[in-house]
Amino acid sequence: MSNPARKSEVPCGPHQEPDAKTSQRTESELPCEGLKGCRCFADSAVAVHTEADIIALPRSRPVAKAAAAFKSGDFEAAEQGYTEVLAGAGDADARAAALANRAQCRLRLGLFEEGREDAATARALAPENPKAWYRLGLCEARLARLTEAEAALGQALELRPGDPAVSAALTAVRRRQAEGRGRYAWEEVWSQYLISAQLVYQQAQKEAGTGDAAAPTPAGQSLAAAMDEVDGLVLASLGVEPYVGPVRIGLSEGRGRGLFVTEDVPAGRLLLCCHALVTGMHQDLPGRLASCARRSPEIEEFLRGMSQGTAESETEVPSLSPAQLAAPRRLLRPPVSTVEGPEGSAGSHEEGLSSEDLETVMVFNQFSLPMVNPNAAPIEVTNDPGRSGVWLLPSFVNHACLPNVQRTIVLDCLFLRAGRDLKAGDELFDCYIETLQPLARRSSSLSTYGIKSCGCDRCLFEEAVVGDESGQADVQAVLEQVAAGATCGGEQAEIADKTEAAATQAEVVMAQALDRALAAGAA
Ligand SMILES: [Zn+2]
Repeated sequence: MSNPARKSEVPCGPHQEPDAKTSQRTESELPCEGLKGCRCFADSAVAVHTEADIIALPRSRPVAKAAAAFKSGDFEAAEQGYTEVLAGAGDADARAAALANRAQCRLRLGLFEEGREDAATARALAPENPKAWYRLGLCEARLARLTEAEAALGQALELRPGDPAVSAALTAVRRRQAEGRGRYAWEEVWSQYLISAQLVYQQAQKEAGTGDAAAPTPAGQSLAAAMDEVDGLVLASLGVEPYVGPVRIGLSEGRGRGLFVTEDVPAGRLLLCCHALVTGMHQDLPGRLASCARRSPEIEEFLRGMSQGTAESETEVPSLSPAQLAAPRRLLRPPVSTVEGPEGSAGSHEEGLSSEDLETVMVFNQFSLPMVNPNAAPIEVTNDPGRSGVWLLPSFVNHACLPNVQRTIVLDCLFLRAGRDLKAGDELFDCYIETLQPLARRSSSLSTYGIKSCGCDRCLFEEAVVGDESGQADVQAVLEQVAAGATCGGEQAEIADKTEAAATQAEVVMAQALDRALAAGAA
């Protein structure tokens, strides 16, 4: 019916009276009115009917009403309108058109499951209707059913070869499929990492009054723009699919639950890319967690079972799968306003988690967001003092002072790589604290995580070699020597000399301590 080569063509249905000033939807998003036999692709720029078509097939009143509602952005009214159109539709083609259009409304309303049902029924009624396949593909994609989405969009493209909207949707789905197999566009991921983490650093410098006014802002962005909240739960989202590599949750002797590799893994291999449940300013997170708990009983149950720093809180392996834990926001129902108060107010739900429960979850399970000093060489990464987040699957990784994973947080995504070659069955260990500290300082930092005795190989070694009184005194003397050098106020060369001397002294102390320990047979 449509013939893009004809000069006198006008767009079908609502495209006839475009009003650029009042229309909230762009022309390319308008649904076609479902003219009988229409092959119009209302989502794409090629959606057209000829003038003759429209004269020959005047639109019905209910169709015009529903289309006008969609055009004005009132998707609920449009959905209702197409339900009426559907009730009066005579043949299979008309029913399919009404269903495909209602699917578009439901997509806009975030009702992806319902939209999928409409589109699937439309496709069954009119298997040659590309719009039914296209909408089906879009709904499947929003439901993260990527294999089904790819098949439906592929079918739509076969029926409408070269359609730009279908091609773009199919490309996006294939990219997500590659990400789900651990293949990311790393250049884009790292540029997001550097931009966001540098902006945080510059903001912190500005607040401390030590900012370098001449320092360039990455890509001309502001922190507020880069960290714009997506859905009231996370600061900016990276927008990639999660990935779960060869890992499983299991019980770790003396440590409660842990994460283990299920096959031999070479150093550097990606193990996980997990979405955060929440990220934000520290003080906002308990409220966001409470909001998540209200929107999903599974999440509420999971939060109750998260570590509270005691062995008793770590006995049960969660019922959610690693794939679900890697994308926890997909378990949330759409937010609803509750009688208890505004969304996000913690502790008001009668049987919900209390503010204290959620504060405890935060203390033992949150990860700080990164902060990058771009002027340091090598590049300096520290923790954002104000912002953190909660990731569910990575929260099972236990601590060791000799970590065997590398963790990188990019916006709402936490990437975990093997830091060294790992054997099947090995437990993964991350370092919760500043790694380059002596035993006594590490122990003190770890006590805030409820870890009384770390028990890792490095701690056992240091306890055996410099754990006694004289060993600790020697270590303390070296630390004081380092501090004195750093604060002597001298020239750079003088500071460097003193630091060098302290490093030499540290080596001497450790060598002597090792000799003593070997002689005593302790090591
Ligand atoms: Zn340790």
